[in-house]
Amino acid sequence: MHMDKILLRNFLVFVAILLTCSVGLIFTLMSTNKDLDETDLLIELTQARITEAEQLSTEIESMISSQRGYLISGQQHFLDSYEAHKSQVSQHLANLSELYANRPAQKSRIDEIRNYYTDFAVKLEERAQLTADIEPRVDLLNDIEVIDDIKDNISTTNQVVLQEAYAKLEQHVKKLDAKRSSYFSTLIISIAFGTLLILLLNWFLLTAQRKRTSIQETLEDTEQRFKLVIDGTQDGIYDWDMKKDTVFYSSRFYKMLGYDKSATTSKISEFHDLIHEDDIEQLKQHIEDYLDGHKSEFIHDFRMKHAKGHWVWIQSRSKALFDRKGKAHRLVAALTDITHVVRERAMLERQKEQAEDANRAKTDFLAHMSHEIRTPLTAINGIAEILTKNQVNLDDRQKKLVSTLMSSTSTLKDLINDLLDFSKIESGELELENNPFEASEIFEQTISMMSLKAAERGISFLFDYKKVEHLTMTGDKQRLRQILVNLIGNAIKFTEEGSVKVSAYIEPRKEMDCLCIDVADTGIGIEAEKFDLIFERFKQADTTVTRKYGGTGLGLPISRNLARLMGGDIVISSAIGEGTTFTVFIPLTDSASNTKSEERKKVNKQLNKRFLNVGNDNKPVLIVEDYEGNVVVITYVLEEAGIPYDVAANGIEAIEKWADNNYAAILMDVQMPKMDGFTATKRIREAENGDNLDRTPIIGMTAHALIGDKDKCIDAGMDEYLPKPIVDADLKRVLLKYLDEEKAA
Ligand code: ADP
Repeated sequence: MHMDKILLRNFLVFVAILLTCSVGLIFTLMSTNKDLDETDLLIELTQARITEAEQLSTEIESMISSQRGYLISGQQHFLDSYEAHKSQVSQHLANLSELYANRPAQKSRIDEIRNYYTDFAVKLEERAQLTADIEPRVDLLNDIEVIDDIKDNISTTNQVVLQEAYAKLEQHVKKLDAKRSSYFSTLIISIAFGTLLILLLNWFLLTAQRKRTSIQETLEDTEQRFKLVIDGTQDGIYDWDMKKDTVFYSSRFYKMLGYDKSATTSKISEFHDLIHEDDIEQLKQHIEDYLDGHKSEFIHDFRMKHAKGHWVWIQSRSKALFDRKGKAHRLVAALTDITHVVRERAMLERQKEQAEDANRAKTDFLAHMSHEIRTPLTAINGIAEILTKNQVNLDDRQKKLVSTLMSSTSTLKDLINDLLDFSKIESGELELENNPFEASEIFEQTISMMSLKAAERGISFLFDYKKVEHLTMTGDKQRLRQILVNLIGNAIKFTEEGSVKVSAYIEPRKEMDCLCIDVADTGIGIEAEKFDLIFERFKQADTTVTRKYGGTGLGLPISRNLARLMGGDIVISSAIGEGTTFTVFIPLTDSASNTKSEERKKVNKQLNKRFLNVGNDNKPVLIVEDYEGNVVVITYVLEEAGIPYDVAANGIEAIEKWADNNYAAILMDVQMPKMDGFTATKRIREAENGDNLDRTPIIGMTAHALIGDKDKCIDAGMDEYLPKPIVDADLKRVLLKYLDEEKAA
């Protein structure tokens, strides 16, 4: 209950008690007073009766005395006095009769006295009559016996009346005394009680006042604190009383917007007028959603007009008060000027965009560089391969040169590939292929690549994949081979003597069947505390040892990232001086597509056969490539099968040649001087569409190897995409596809 109501209730209870007591007291006093008056009257009456009775006795005695005086002296004045006393007696008797009118017993006694008196008077007068002429009359005085008797009767009766009156008087006086004392004690008790009540009321009022003062002080204190907070905070305060439709804005709020407090009224509509028109609907919606309970909290940013005309960004954090029915009746908000935050945010956004641009530029640069480096490298590699295959005509020195050329090229290629892979992984741009392939095919390729290295180092190399000989898996075979080459390469590199044993098997890990490959060596080993470190980029277990073996510290991080991208991982166990075992495991997601590896081998053989049989009765293939080295490599493959070809050095030449000839297919490099492959392809497609010509298959060739390159090629109108360095089998498969079609047509 509200404090004031409690006070009022208690106050009213007090007043009611006080009033009841006062009324009771007045009533008691009045009735006691009346009793006293009545008793007083009774006393007065009794006193009057006593007086009358006593006077009656006295007058009777006086009557006798007066008659005696007369009888003795015969003087008239005694007679007059007798008559006077006689009339007094009658009067007293009448008075007494009247006074005892309500007391029958006493009245009868008065009547008795009256009767005696009548006799008495008669007897007295008779005596006076008898003695009228007798001298001396004194002797007659003795003749009083009868009279005395009557007088005694009168006296006795009167005495009874008097005694009874005295008794009554005493009784009344006692009663009066008792009543008086009760009256006074009642009065004193009432006064005491009243005083007590008044004191209590005062105490109550005082306490209430004290409480009120304390509450007032607390309230003032709170108000002061609240005011201090409101004035001190950098936030503007907004308090909307929805019932009264009034709004309180703190002075900080006005200041925030450059307004004078008196210039704006406290109507809600004024606030709305200052909000940016693009923000108002959203803000209203937000408030509605919050008040309807669709949103649990209210934080919203919007713009308000500053007095000087510019816009101020305000962040509103609001809280509503709801009644029992869930209807909001008050909305209080802290309004913060976040213009600088918004500005900083925009600046950061710009900086982020710039950084992203820079990053994109870096990626582009990397792509271009990789293209630039890999293009001649492809040629060098291709030429080295051709020379290696045709070594018969070379002397030993030349053979040595060729093999050095071959190994240097492959090291350089690996390094560039690692750098490019790493930057792709870092930027999240690495995309894995997802095609079915024979695991054994990869293992065989790896064996052929690595056994030579092992032999060179004089260590034994064993790759056991019997358990997964017929496994066909779906994924990125190049990347799997890359992991194996990395791990086996390291194993060979860090093993001075002994062996490198690789074994492949299937084992359930993480509730899935996984292809597991252990690469175990008997090399230098790795300290357990370096296990995590070596998987970090550019980190090597031992710099002194590594100086001896070379390396960049990129192989393991790339391999683990690739394994993880495939859903697997690489784990390590090692002991210094004893050797190391790296285990790579890759989940087998598509076991249903497993086919016999023998069949796959057959397919490959058939592919080579078909390619060689394609013959020279075909339409020519146009090679568009600015780098001559690559032209040499591609033409070597085409010449093997006797396929005719033309060469163009850039996009413009390609379009001219395409216009003058009818090609079976075009192998189109992407990056070239004068006009790139994308533009040339677009132009050819436009021309084909415009003149309703047959579509010439165009196969893009790019060394970018970045995400999106394939899409870019297809978008430009190419039919296929071959990443550089061009893999022999892939080139043959793609060419066969179009040359076969051509033949069939
Ligand atoms: P790199 O071999 O180019 O230095 P890696 O990332 O492949 O880079 O390897 C990182 C480091 O891990 C190596 O420098 C070496 O210290 C350690 N390491 C990797 N494989 C082995 C291994 N089989 N035996 C011993 N140490 C190894």
